[in-house]
Amino acid sequence: MTGLSAVTVQSLGLKPLLADALQHRQVAWFYREQLICAQRLPAPALGLSRYALDARLAQAFTAAGGELNRATRAKDSGPLPGRILAHGRSRSESPWLGLKLHVHDLRLAQDLELHLGHEAYIGLTKVETGAVNVCGLFRRRNLAAPGPALLAAYLKAVGLPLLADRIARATFETGSFSAVSALSYEPVIPTPDTISLGDAGGLIPPFTGNGMAIAFQSAETALPHVVAYSRGKASWTATCNHTHAALRRRFHHRLAVARNLQPFLLAPNRQRLVSALARAHLLPLRLLYTLLH
Ligand SMILES: Cc1cc2nc3c(=O)[nH]c(=O)nc-3n(C[C@H](O)[C@H](O)[C@H](O)COP(=O)(O)OP(=O)(O)OC[C@H]3O[C@@H](n4cnc5c(N)ncnc54)[C@H](O)[C@@H]3O)c2cc1C
Repeated sequence: MTGLSAVTVQSLGLKPLLADALQHRQVAWFYREQLICAQRLPAPALGLSRYALDARLAQAFTAAGGELNRATRAKDSGPLPGRILAHGRSRSESPWLGLKLHVHDLRLAQDLELHLGHEAYIGLTKVETGAVNVCGLFRRRNLAAPGPALLAAYLKAVGLPLLADRIARATFETGSFSAVSALSYEPVIPTPDTISLGDAGGLIPPFTGNGMAIAFQSAETALPHVVAYSRGKASWTATCNHTHAALRRRFHHRLAVARNLQPFLLAPNRQRLVSALARAHLLPLRLLYTLLH
């Protein structure tokens, strides 16, 4: 997780949930398995598995009196006063596939490794258990294999066979493989009389490592408006309108920058440009980080 400020952590009471998150600073960038540059993040990125984070959020929610219905899907997501949607990405068609695996006994060059392959990028970083989270975005190909073998097949297909071999020599964490599709990075138009938070309000490309921070920050942004509504001080329509405006102010620019930069990490000709600039120490990494957080 990048870009989660102390203010947001404080206002949402997240501190105990993040206490054992690893703090990562150093990033190594690779283009087709060659190290092209090293970056020091202006603020640490947090290394925490979603298993731990989700379980802790669920526990905190129920401890605060929330009623959590597990293993059940809400069918109706239409507007309803007081209903807030946080259902993650919308199920629209897209050419992108996300693959993830946790492995042990894998040495990293830096806290974070970011690898550019042919129409793909892959990040590797440690989480609180000591496992390395391997997570990549790939243009979908006609490849089929069970579980982690699919990740290996994709890594080889995008020109990263050495990375595939490194991962193959590590120890896979059972049950940690997952694949997600329907990853559309198109802007989402807000639905009237509905508040959508996190990915439900629009996806930020994953190279930013900022999706979870946005999920939290969007909740933080909505909070004062929703509290006013719950106290009878505002109508639901006004609450939605104020929240939409505040979310737009906070995220519109960031999402636009990220969407425009993503092709530079995926399209082969633009990747070559990024690689050349990085080798010449001409990539304005600090400026880009500031624009993306
Ligand atoms: C390849 C890849 C790598 C990424 N890497 C990072 C990273 O390094 N750092 C980072 O911060 N972010 C990363 N992200 C983005 C991050 O995963 C998301 O931004 C984040 O999960 C958004 O949180 P959310 O709560 O909005 O949605 P989700 O985490 O998707 O949670 C939504 C939940 O709602 C549930 N749900 C959906 N529909 C219903 C329904 N009808 N009824 C009941 N429940 C429902 C879902 O099952 C899910 O549990 C990555 C994403 C991808 C694809």
